[in-house]
Amino acid sequence: MKKFAVTSLAAAMVLSIVVTGCGAPLPEVTESTETVPELGPASPKDDFYRYVNEERFKDVEFEYGTSTARAAFDQKLIDDQIEEIIDDVVAGSGYEKGSEEYIIKNAYDLYSAYDFENEPIPEELVELMDEIQNASSIEELMQIDAKLVRDYGLSGFLNVGPDVDPFDPTRRVMTFVPLNGVMGVSFQDMRDQLYAIDSVRDDAILILTVRGYDEDTAGKYGTELANIAIDLFSATDLEAFEDPMSFKYCSIYNKSQVDDVFTNVDIDAYLKEIGFDISKVDSYCVSDDDQLVALNAIFTEDNLNALKTWELGNLITQYGKYISPHYTQMAGYIGRDYSSDHDKAVKEISNVFESETDPIYVERHYSKEMDDALIGMCDDIRAGYREIISNATWLSQETRDELLRKLENIVYVTGMDLERHDTAEYKNLNTENYFKFCLSYHKISIKEQIDSFGEPVSRKDILMPMQMFNACYNPSFNNITITVAITNAPFFDVNADYYTNLGGLGMVIAHEMGHAFDSNCILFNSKGEYDPSWIKTEDMDTLIARNDKAVEYFESFVFFGVYHVDGEQTLGENYADLGAMECVSSLATTQEDREKLFESFATIWCQICTDEQIIDQVAYDVHSPAVIRVNAVCSTLDVFYETYDIQEGDGMYVAPENRISRWY
Ligand SMILES: [Zn+2]
Repeated sequence: MKKFAVTSLAAAMVLSIVVTGCGAPLPEVTESTETVPELGPASPKDDFYRYVNEERFKDVEFEYGTSTARAAFDQKLIDDQIEEIIDDVVAGSGYEKGSEEYIIKNAYDLYSAYDFENEPIPEELVELMDEIQNASSIEELMQIDAKLVRDYGLSGFLNVGPDVDPFDPTRRVMTFVPLNGVMGVSFQDMRDQLYAIDSVRDDAILILTVRGYDEDTAGKYGTELANIAIDLFSATDLEAFEDPMSFKYCSIYNKSQVDDVFTNVDIDAYLKEIGFDISKVDSYCVSDDDQLVALNAIFTEDNLNALKTWELGNLITQYGKYISPHYTQMAGYIGRDYSSDHDKAVKEISNVFESETDPIYVERHYSKEMDDALIGMCDDIRAGYREIISNATWLSQETRDELLRKLENIVYVTGMDLERHDTAEYKNLNTENYFKFCLSYHKISIKEQIDSFGEPVSRKDILMPMQMFNACYNPSFNNITITVAITNAPFFDVNADYYTNLGGLGMVIAHEMGHAFDSNCILFNSKGEYDPSWIKTEDMDTLIARNDKAVEYFESFVFFGVYHVDGEQTLGENYADLGAMECVSSLATTQEDREKLFESFATIWCQICTDEQIIDQVAYDVHSPAVIRVNAVCSTLDVFYETYDIQEGDGMYVAPENRISRWY
């Protein structure tokens, strides 16, 4: 029988704190469920997380194929809300041409009517594949590549496009985003598994044989492409690639520096072909110089056939659902989906037409009243940070002033900032069939993106769909996005008690605001410019010394006796949690309000996972597992000790000399 993390996880937590305080090795947690002791009712003093959530943990059943259950982040709730929108819109009629409803209804009907198995490959795609195969020079292939970017939504060989300038976030700069792989095989795969490179060759051979090449030729081109993949992989800085702060590696190249690198490709001609106004392109953002040099080196006439193969692979991957069903050899490329036609269509619309359901989602699930309450809470949280940062006398006055300037400059983005699109732009969509409909639809947003180059950047840009169950902080814009989906209960309820909301969504907001000062985002100044020198060196050193202690503190938490939380990997997130809790708990003054706040906080992290999921999360996730996010944060907070009268010997107790703080 599968042993789920809830029991052993809770046991491990209780043991780690009761028996050892923190940090020392744990008693072995055994493999059989029989030997995990039956847990009695939890006390807030011993395991606060389980105390709050244990009722929800009872009689849990995991849905087939899932590794998490009873999560407060309930994706099913959001999926159901979106399905309801789609169903209602599809059932209605008489929509204005080009409106969101018009697009959703047409997309649904056209998708449902399209016979992916039997409809021939769209002629346009056949022509494109022929065109790629017939390209007789690198120059010609690059022209086709530009067209695939412009009209078909591919990212192109060079993966270049406008993005916010990290050094001057008021403008966009042409940015070379480092490639991560060839033919769907990532460079990480190549690093971790010696034989991953074979997949590049095998997939190339498969594509070429279905397109009519004989085995020898396909094998030759496939091998050449695998060699290109090895060259690019060898030149790629994977550490930089995996660093969430890719900005650290960015440098700005001027036009002639880029021309010096690209001796084999005419960058101006390429960008012009995509549709950029190249008179506005004066600089480029580059974050992997060596990869760029290696990229230029592959564009030789000798490599033409291999590059054509790669391009075919890109096109077939992007439009696989229209192409793969026609080649029996590609059966493995078609995801089998046995859900009902209705569910398939809903899934497709939710994925592809998210921008259309999004404003309707806001209208249905968000109101001015909610927004006022939310903004009020944001302002209270800002005031809380203002107070604790002002009092952080371990930092110089100058640095505190700078941090406060950054705090005051934070902008909120909520559902109120999302507007419906201009129907005129979408009224001429091609409704002949689903393929043509999607193509004409995507062309509009690609063109918008191309045309936006050179336009001023708004800090109110929506960076996350409002129907996504999440929130985020963006260091360049110095803004936080609070989606509408995350205003669902238990995070927020406009009729709930203020402190319950503060411990729920308030903690999420404070967490995002806290990211402004985490170990990564602190490298951006109050204007959102990447500028590691904006804080005095002495204060930066003090901040880093605190980091070390925080890393040690979180590493003292252990799962199953062996898996320590990775303190380095989770530092930014743990700090955001800890700072957030220090901030919001400073806003609650009575016993009753504090209890509501802490309990609500533990509620939003409610979830049960399989052991494997926990181990996986500890290994790879920048967030600590839910139980740590609650118990480790509470165990280091004086106000929690006061609220629940935690004493030495209690499970939640950590000796004062081992506790940490973000701002105190
Ligand atoms: Zn975070």
